[in-house]
Amino acid sequence: MKEILLIKNGEIALKGLNRNTFETILVKNIRFRLKDLGRIDVRKAQSAIYIEPREDGIDFEEAAERLRKIFGIAAFSRAAMAQKDYDDICRTALEYLKGPLSEAKTFKVNAKRSDKGFPMKSPDIMRQLGGDILRAFPHLKVDVNTPDVMVTVEIRDFGAYIHANQLPGAGGLPVGSGGKALLLISGGIDSPVAGHMMAKRGLELSAVHFVSPPYTSDRAREKVERLCARMGEYCGRIRFYCVPFTELQETLRDNCPEELFTILMRRLMMEIAQRFAEREGLQALVTGESVGQVASQTLGAIVCTDAACRMPVLRPLIGMDKSEIVELARKIDTFDISVLPYEDCCTVFTPRHPKTRPSLAEVEAAQAGFDFEPLIQKAVEDTEEKWIYPDRR
Ligand code: ATP
Ligand code: MG
Repeated sequence: MKEILLIKNGEIALKGLNRNTFETILVKNIRFRLKDLGRIDVRKAQSAIYIEPREDGIDFEEAAERLRKIFGIAAFSRAAMAQKDYDDICRTALEYLKGPLSEAKTFKVNAKRSDKGFPMKSPDIMRQLGGDILRAFPHLKVDVNTPDVMVTVEIRDFGAYIHANQLPGAGGLPVGSGGKALLLISGGIDSPVAGHMMAKRGLELSAVHFVSPPYTSDRAREKVERLCARMGEYCGRIRFYCVPFTELQETLRDNCPEELFTILMRRLMMEIAQRFAEREGLQALVTGESVGQVASQTLGAIVCTDAACRMPVLRPLIGMDKSEIVELARKIDTFDISVLPYEDCCTVFTPRHPKTRPSLAEVEAAQAGFDFEPLIQKAVEDTEEKWIYPDRR
């Protein structure tokens, strides 16, 4: 029996955007995510997207699992394909849905005939198949309002498709349909969640990570790369920038007031991030900040950080509690990696008494007291870049 994945137009989460462009991007993203599983045809036709294996031995479970994580799909179905012939449809339905129908108490048949050349009308299909299912599974009852299993038969151009209840998709908008942004990613819990949320709104992500060897280890950096790969299951491939930050941090420590260290460091991070964003045509920065979470995330500190930015800084977690962020991190499977215990460069040289209410004037004055530009340029030049591809599990 041949199985396909089917996304109908109503299941594509589209609002207000150009539908055609949006679907083209979605199809491209689906192709990209399924490419290494074998020859799989992904095509748009008859107000649906069909995902059809074209060779034997394709891991269909894995294909369905990956589809579940592609933004822009609100729901989809796994469907069996039958000939456009009632007997074949009935045989296929009884065999394909044996599991769910055996476990259910109630069912209903729904038929749609978009190929009007098929000799039976939809109500006839529903009546006849309903009867055949009742004979094969005598324990079942018909419930037209809230059936346990909704058996759907669709007679379309290329064949007949039979499926049961639809599966939930990831929702959101297709990655790449909403522009590009640069995520500042640490090894912590928050920033991967922030990136996920913005990718869900259709943004394609690049990611920048600051390291301070020898204060931070290679393993800390590897951890962040693993986070990007895990995020990639939803966000797609990510262009990754790893910035050597040690010299700037040491210079800050030696030349600026200790209590302003964190805020100045964050301003330098923003500055460097923007150099990459501008060079690559990315339109915004994304961070995992949430008001009041730590000293550098008071509103006053955010004012000082924002003043160092020429482009919008998106902070999707801004009003969330830590517990809510943790819940999301678990849901998207980044939590287990985030809690691995490696140092982040932010925790290096942390001042004993960071200023929680710095004034912008004093912060700018402190920064102006030293010429950071040559060090910024050097950090940008020495940055390592690469693509990180989604986890294959
Ligand atoms: P996270 O859980 O994301 O580490 P946090 O609560 O630890 O966040 P901070 O350490 O104050 O908060 O960092 C705030 C934000 O700054 C992070 O969410 C992230 O966007 C960015 N950031 C922090 N450290 C780094 C780093 N080493 N490289 C890149 N970005 C960073
Ligand atoms: Mg952190």
